[in-house]
Amino acid sequence: DLTNDHVLDDQEQAVEKSLRPQTLSQYIGQTKIKHELQVYIQAAQKRQEALDHVLLYGPPGLGKTTLALVIAHELGVNLRSTTGPSIDKAGDLVAILSELQPGDVLFIDEVHRLPKNIEEILYSAMEDFFIDIVVGQGAEAHAIHYPLPPFTLIGATTQAGQLSSPLRSRFGIIEHLTYYNTTELTQIIQRSATVLNVTITLEGAHELARRSRGTPRVANRLLKRVRDFAQVAGRQEIDAPLVSSSLQQLQVDSAGLDQTDRKLLQMMIQLYHGGPVGLKTMAVNIGEEQETVEAVYEPYLLQQGFLKRTSRGRMVTSKAYQHLGLPVPDQNGA
Ligand code: ADP
Repeated sequence: DLTNDHVLDDQEQAVEKSLRPQTLSQYIGQTKIKHELQVYIQAAQKRQEALDHVLLYGPPGLGKTTLALVIAHELGVNLRSTTGPSIDKAGDLVAILSELQPGDVLFIDEVHRLPKNIEEILYSAMEDFFIDIVVGQGAEAHAIHYPLPPFTLIGATTQAGQLSSPLRSRFGIIEHLTYYNTTELTQIIQRSATVLNVTITLEGAHELARRSRGTPRVANRLLKRVRDFAQVAGRQEIDAPLVSSSLQQLQVDSAGLDQTDRKLLQMMIQLYHGGPVGLKTMAVNIGEEQETVEAVYEPYLLQQGFLKRTSRGRMVTSKAYQHLGLPVPDQNGA
């Protein structure tokens, strides 16, 4: 499962933590975002103010959480971390906000899944650093006014489109994380290999990078699996042929597509003559949530040119037919 890294034991969590870069200079790729953040961070520090609120969006595993940690580290402040769906009472939010020190970062992952009433409380917290909460009922009801220290909210989402416009407009800095290129992923894999204390050749790292769906989390996960294959085979060094044979066993193909990616394309071809197919139909036919198809599978297939969007739905491209070894249908009909 590409989206899930929440079920890790303590040892795995420690490894995960050590794989995360801590400073902007260790953070590989996303060059434009890094340059912009560097300026905003320096300016905020010069003015001795909290950094403006930041919205990070893009597919899972591209480094949004990591970037939030890096920003807090660069600012020299604490980071409090929570998720949208886990805050369900106003009191939960008040408790979190009241613990913040001036300038601290509050990181909210899956910010598009904040309950509506909580989101509304956040508006004044973000804009003017206070919250008003109504307590008691009937004649007893009265508002309590809580002033807050200036803080920076960093929100992360895979679904920017699902964010309400009042919430979105309160983020001064909005950054879109995009898939990493092979050179960047090669560097990330080399750094992770050093952290994990494994030896990988440049060609090996490059082959793994090419087949990691443009995603650091996938690259790190595959590196760990290839390390297992190397260990069992008694190999001291991971080279390109070992990467290839390991990935073949893991059913990750030469283009980096996994079983679900291929299932999606095959289903569209077999059941719908290549489309157009709506997102909901795609999701139902491969047994995934619509949100997962939209946030995880579709963006990469679009970016790689295996799918294209039309006004009537998604269509499989001739590149996808060729990749799956199927005859390309007559283009006139498509
Ligand atoms: P997201 O929050 O976008 O789902 P994460 O921040 O959890 O993604 O990143 C997933 C993994 O990928 C982390 O373990 C991190 O070590 C690694 N990673 C992400 N971005 C980078 C990067 N730019 N450089 C190095 N490693 C990265």
